[in-house]
Amino acid sequence: MEPLFQQTEQLQHFFEQLYEKSLNPFWIAEVVDNDFIIIIANPAAQRVEPRQVAGASIRQLAESIGDADELLAGYYQAVKTGESLQFEQRPWIKDKEYLFRTLIVPIKNTSGDITHIWGSAHNLTDFLDPQKELLAMNKLLDEKVKERTQQLNAAVEKLERLSITDDLTELANRRHFDQQFNQAVAQANTTQEPLSLVYLDIDYFKQFNDQFGHSLGDKCLQLVAGQLADFFEAQDALVARYGGEEFVVLLPKMEEVDAQQQVKRLLENISAAHFHIDNYDHRITISAGVATATTLPANADALLKAADDALYEAKRAGRNTYMTRAV
Ligand code: GH3
Ligand code: MG
Ligand code: MG
Repeated sequence: MEPLFQQTEQLQHFFEQLYEKSLNPFWIAEVVDNDFIIIIANPAAQRVEPRQVAGASIRQLAESIGDADELLAGYYQAVKTGESLQFEQRPWIKDKEYLFRTLIVPIKNTSGDITHIWGSAHNLTDFLDPQKELLAMNKLLDEKVKERTQQLNAAVEKLERLSITDDLTELANRRHFDQQFNQAVAQANTTQEPLSLVYLDIDYFKQFNDQFGHSLGDKCLQLVAGQLADFFEAQDALVARYGGEEFVVLLPKMEEVDAQQQVKRLLENISAAHFHIDNYDHRITISAGVATATTLPANADALLKAADDALYEAKRAGRNTYMTRAV
């Protein structure tokens, strides 16, 4: 290879200028066993770390600021591969965080052995603050997005809940019941388990409305709904308002006799209850039709019709009572 400089003197002159005036730290270190001993470090290097002087051990310097093996990994790699490489480092020096992009160049002697390392660093510390600011803004944005997503999810949940809830009584609405009922029938057919359905209707409710007014009628519906919800609360049951003063109760896995017992007790409770509305105790009764799917496969329409028929029978039998049908 042609010599880069004709005169050693000229080379030395160039190097001295570079050494004095470079704003980027650079240093040359000799490879000694597992360490690198600085033979020269320019003033820019010493401004950052005054201990970077000829004779200083880079390993010891590294040990004083952090994990030496990690900090020197690039040096070892350059020695091992014979290739230059660059990496970023964020050492804390005298309580200040720095950001350097460090370039490591392995230098071979005339026999081809890597004997020295040329190191130089771009001091990017000035970019640290904006970078941190950006990270903080990013984090803030993330939090905002998370918060908005949560709000949105809550709104969607609320909307979903509203869409399956009856406004007046807060029980499940008819749409939700129909959906659940069809699912329950399908499941009963799969698992071969019984399924009972109760159809309930308040007795003489038109009279109640006529006598006390529609708004008290509404209150009464709410109180009855509350009683139904409480009564079936501990069970795997779905209580829904089917329309007007009519309610349905879905009782998965429930045998005919058990459903009958439940309804008997429910009717007793309701007829014994005092519905306190506008400082006045109202007594009301309900009638019920109970249908249980006993022959499989069950059919939703048939089950509902059977419960409705049974209810009609209960009304004809004088109200405040229940009738049953097996389907
Ligand atoms: P039965 O014992 O045969 O069931 O007699 P009933 O009077 O309860 O039955 P009918 O079907 O004749 O009347 C039902 C009444 O329920 C009529 C209607 O005004 C009332 N009703 C239906 N929905 C509501 C409601 O949302 N609020 C109020 N206050 N009344 C309602
Ligand atoms: Mg009715
Ligand atoms: Mg009625």
